[in-house]
Amino acid sequence: MNECVLPDPAGLFEIRFESIGGLGANSAGKILATAAVLDMNLNGSHFSSYGSEKKGSVVRSYVRLGAADKPIRTSAPIDTPDVIVVFHDALTKQEITLAGLKKGGILIYNGMAGDVPKLLEKVPAGTRIIRIDATNIAMEEFSRANAVVLGTLCEIVPFLDGAQVLERLTAKFRTRNPKAAAANDRAFARGASEYEELEGVAKGEDDLPVIRPMPVLGYETAPLGGVIPHAGNTISNDLSTSRTGYMPKFAGAKCIHCGLCATVCPDFCLAWTHEADEDGEQKIRLKGVDYQYCKGCMRCVETCPTEALVRVVETPGLADSLRVPLFSQKESSAA
Ligand code: SF4
Ligand code: SF4
Repeated sequence: MNECVLPDPAGLFEIRFESIGGLGANSAGKILATAAVLDMNLNGSHFSSYGSEKKGSVVRSYVRLGAADKPIRTSAPIDTPDVIVVFHDALTKQEITLAGLKKGGILIYNGMAGDVPKLLEKVPAGTRIIRIDATNIAMEEFSRANAVVLGTLCEIVPFLDGAQVLERLTAKFRTRNPKAAAANDRAFARGASEYEELEGVAKGEDDLPVIRPMPVLGYETAPLGGVIPHAGNTISNDLSTSRTGYMPKFAGAKCIHCGLCATVCPDFCLAWTHEADEDGEQKIRLKGVDYQYCKGCMRCVETCPTEALVRVVETPGLADSLRVPLFSQKESSAA
């Protein structure tokens, strides 16, 4: 067993994974803590918090590591982590994702090269910001984003033993599915070598404040009688952060307007219109997808008989440029 020494052997080293369901953040936390305890002679604990267990829900996964003689006595969520790992770049638009990040800490996020999320300017100066294109690497290697970001994390945090973490990640596949094990090996290695360190982006002066998600209505704030005076409306839902890097793209020329996609879409996000055909008869026609409500489940793609809907990698701005709003009145009143 390797002897791993924490930066502060008297304290705890805390890592928070920010993700959405389906990207493997819970598994990554479990693998990392298991490797730390069983292979690196450290104390460790791990747990995750999430809502309903489905693709697209927000997931936070917490890993605490301590020296072998330092018991871990808390199981509270990690508010002020040493490292934050963001599995989906859409999450970098939300302040809560980066909450509690300390000066001198580390932020690793999954994102493509190019535009840097605006919110990263608030990160305290002196924090290391690391970008890795985990989605594309995972797709190219037939692996998952968690294998890629674990590779990056083990490279950036020197006391983590990457070989041991990789072994915990792939061990169960070696005999059952050698191809999957090899895919994870490649994804992990690329995560460890293809990251980019962003210099001069972090400009904040102070540690980022802690934010604890709280329900809007609770024991002390609920109106008398449990009345909800201002009911919500699903029109304001935004499911774009639920997509895990892919989106359906509509090719109108191939569409036969059969409606099969509409029967399987769980969020009714396909936009239809009435149009007169050459005989003047009114027909219902598919115009496209309202990506505000699309969670990227790909049921429509799997169902379409003509490949008028295909799965594509979601690049920055693509959904906005192809979006067909379902509620155009709402858009014009907001403008
Ligand atoms: S299933 Fe395909 S062909 Fe049928 S309406 Fe939907 S996109 Fe068009
Ligand atoms: S991927 Fe297709 S089926 Fe799934 S939510 Fe989006 S439009 Fe609907």
